[in-house]
Amino acid sequence: MTTKMSSMETDVLVVGGGSAGIAAATSAARNGAKVVLVEAGPMLGGELNSGIPVDGVYTARGDLAVGGFATDFFDACARYDGFIGKVCDYRALNVVCVDPEASKLAAIELVYGAGVQVLMYTFADQVVASADGVVEGVIVRNKRGRTLIRARVVIDATGDADIAAGAGCETMVGEGGDPTLQPVSLVFRMAGVDAARLLAFVAEAPENVSVLEYPGFAPDRAAAIAGLVAQGRPKVFLVAGGPLLDTAIAEGRMYPTSMVAITPISEGRREVSVNTTRVAGVDATDTSQLSRAIDDLSRQVQTCSRFLQTSVPGFEDAVLSALAPRVGIRETRRIVGDTVLTGADILAGRKFDDGIAKGCHELDIHGRETGHRRANIKDGGSYDIPYGCLLPKATKNLLVAGRCLSADREAHSTARVMGSCMGMGQAAGTAAAMARELNAFEDIRQVDVGALRARLREQGAVLDGIA
Ligand SMILES: Cc1cc2nc3c(=O)[nH]c(=O)nc-3n(C[C@H](O)[C@H](O)[C@H](O)COP(=O)(O)OP(=O)(O)OC[C@H]3O[C@@H](n4cnc5c(N)ncnc54)[C@H](O)[C@@H]3O)c2cc1C
Repeated sequence: MTTKMSSMETDVLVVGGGSAGIAAATSAARNGAKVVLVEAGPMLGGELNSGIPVDGVYTARGDLAVGGFATDFFDACARYDGFIGKVCDYRALNVVCVDPEASKLAAIELVYGAGVQVLMYTFADQVVASADGVVEGVIVRNKRGRTLIRARVVIDATGDADIAAGAGCETMVGEGGDPTLQPVSLVFRMAGVDAARLLAFVAEAPENVSVLEYPGFAPDRAAAIAGLVAQGRPKVFLVAGGPLLDTAIAEGRMYPTSMVAITPISEGRREVSVNTTRVAGVDATDTSQLSRAIDDLSRQVQTCSRFLQTSVPGFEDAVLSALAPRVGIRETRRIVGDTVLTGADILAGRKFDDGIAKGCHELDIHGRETGHRRANIKDGGSYDIPYGCLLPKATKNLLVAGRCLSADREAHSTARVMGSCMGMGQAAGTAAAMARELNAFEDIRQVDVGALRARLREQGAVLDGIA
């Protein structure tokens, strides 16, 4: 392996190819910038590839809260025959269900189709920043050695704020001196599920299923269960506190968990994703901790798939069909930005003059074992994500998008979902390209936020019109 460092130049460098990064890179390129996207893994999509549904696209009330790139992404999923669409869980959410195999193809189509130069299998290693807050470039590492990518604007979409932290920006972990983080999880998939039989079981034994945490879905529990069954989709939230899961945990047939969240991902394969496993006390920026967690998580996958096959009607003939490509990380570092979005803001559905995207997922903090804090956004509506949440303090040409936004722990727990990440990504990428038009690379804050909002609206983003 050579140790010589090569170099390249671009207008906009996006680091991280998850839901935020693919939206940022595509949007910057569509708005005329030369864009390089660096992704450590072998595939674009990040957490999208695990099979979980895209939350934060529709409010609980059913209004669209994210458009633009997200709409293009779902249209592309549909072209690859992998779009199930909006599904109500009759608990608290309207989610968008897609086939993760189609979503990989969709991400590639959109990013490459926009003319982005993609460097996969490449890890952003070191940030070159000056004392006055300008990020001059990022040194990346891959099998060919190290490359300095000089960029006029850098977008940190790593989820973990790797670039902001590397540039010396202030970051937050946990809350109020307590570094507790949400658990890590390994999502898995099961194929050959009999959805009709599963839903018949929901109707027969509704006490095992959480519904109506958002009261607007139905007049009472019985009506919510009837709605869930009539919808015909295997979107079922088996909950701790219900006898099925509690008994299995007490008897050691299941590990302690707050939920077994089942989501449809492919009708053709009769396949669902299952979000349930958890290991708490892991700082996912420490790869040795993350590597240890996968051992426990894989045992939990085996335990839960056996539990489903033996105890949950509809899963009798189902088989384990896939593991998520990596351990899922809910929470690590968040930046301290010009604005810090708070739990009070999101619960009140607060609107901001510099809102560049909307969030509408519930407050959603997974805890250790069966612990889980959830709360609805006011009236099942939405809140604004301000531009200031994407701007790390004391930097000139650095934006973040996605899970590492500037928010307290409560606000982060809702804005981290993938619909909101796409909205933030579109805003960050568009702002970076507008800086190029203005020749304002040296200070991204010169981009007029009113003009940015107008451009985002023109390009399909949802910024107004819903409460
Ligand atoms: C178990 C679990 C269940 C969830 N359930 C849901 C759900 O049902 N619905 C929902 O919408 N959201 C859900 N979420 C939240 C959501 O998936 C994530 O918060 C969201 O995907 C974050 O998107 P992102 O683009 O910020 O980061 P990611 O999707 O994590 O993408 C970051 C990308 O950056 C790359 N990267 C990181 N560091 C570097 C580096 N230094 N150099 C190069 N590349 C780098 C990574 O490889 C990755 O591809 C869940 C999360 C977890 C973990």
